[in-house]
Amino acid sequence: MVGVIGGGQLARMMNEAATALGLRLRLLAEGPDTSAATVVHDVTVGDYTDPAVVKGFAADCDVITFDHEHVPTALLHDLEDSGIAVRPGPEALVHAQDKVVMRDRLSAFGAPCPVYRVVGDADELVAFGDEHGWPVIAKTSRGGYDGKGVFELAGRDDAAQPFEDLRPGVQVIAEEFVDFRRELSALVARSPSGQAVAYPVSESVQRDGICVETTTPAPGLDDDRAVGIQRLALSIADELGVVGLLAVELMERTDGSVLVNELAMRPHNTGHWSIDGSHTSQFENHLRAVVDLPLGDPATRVRWTVMSNVLGGSVLDLPSALLHCFARDRRLRVQLYGKEVRPGRKVGHVTTYGHDLDEVRERARHAAGYLMGADESTGAGE
Ligand code: ADP
Repeated sequence: MVGVIGGGQLARMMNEAATALGLRLRLLAEGPDTSAATVVHDVTVGDYTDPAVVKGFAADCDVITFDHEHVPTALLHDLEDSGIAVRPGPEALVHAQDKVVMRDRLSAFGAPCPVYRVVGDADELVAFGDEHGWPVIAKTSRGGYDGKGVFELAGRDDAAQPFEDLRPGVQVIAEEFVDFRRELSALVARSPSGQAVAYPVSESVQRDGICVETTTPAPGLDDDRAVGIQRLALSIADELGVVGLLAVELMERTDGSVLVNELAMRPHNTGHWSIDGSHTSQFENHLRAVVDLPLGDPATRVRWTVMSNVLGGSVLDLPSALLHCFARDRRLRVQLYGKEVRPGRKVGHVTTYGHDLDEVRERARHAAGYLMGADESTGAGE
């Protein structure tokens, strides 16, 4: 029995993989209408920060895993002490919860990171900017996602911004502004016995802090650099003792070198392509790792795989809109998350694959654009 905490689309897609493997999956969801709660049949609705709720939920489970990284680590230590396996465990997970802990640990073991410093107030932030140059990127140590909690500060006058409405216990970290060429993502899965596999490196395009498209493998990334990045991700998973999926988000500079931006310890948006484009999806490999089965081959099935996110737009009835998409493209793959459509919300994704990258991209962009309500006649999705 695998207990999954968090009822979002990642748990929904994990459930699909669990079904195929014949694993029993039980869900702790934030509400009865969340993406996974509407499809999983063994659901507890409750607060994942409430020790009584989490302990009650976990009691019958063989192993606990996650759809998000927000469960307090003290609670997870309690579960481990009571003999329940938690994968990834709290000692690893804290690096995906707290950016200061993550930066300090990665720098200590030599992973390439932007120059950074924890700053206590606006004056310290100004001192960092004057030393390392403006603009400065400031981030809150905890609680950020999809670009929230990340500030681009043009100069001294902006230095107070990150400290406004700061929650207790949350720190501000100042980072050099990296003038990157593009963002890359390296996914690895690692099992408790120490077996690990690395997915091909993806290029990811972000807009307003949200991933909109990935291309796998990352175009123009030569084999040496790709293998170097895979090795880096594998070494981080090993160093931190991650069990399950680890996503390493990277910034690639114009000289081809990379810096780690951040870590996620769960299936990741930049790995959704793997459902259709890889021999073993990230969701299946996450579950295999969590129950300590041999991991599956992460290699691509075809030359290029493109994933486009469907963000909430003017189309409210997404399943009906598939009529057009499927009539146009018989090889289009779609995942809709069963969520109410709200502007900008991640409500699904589409995947296309083939041998001609331009054609594969056009098909993905067209379908995602159409599902977001882009006008056919204007070249949807561009
Ligand atoms: P979140 O936790 O919200 O995903 P990230 O740390 O991933 O936040 O940052 C969000 C985006 O901000 C990144 O995808 C990247 O585009 C940009 N960014 C983050 N750090 C830097 C940096 N040091 N220099 C330039 N851009 C950055």
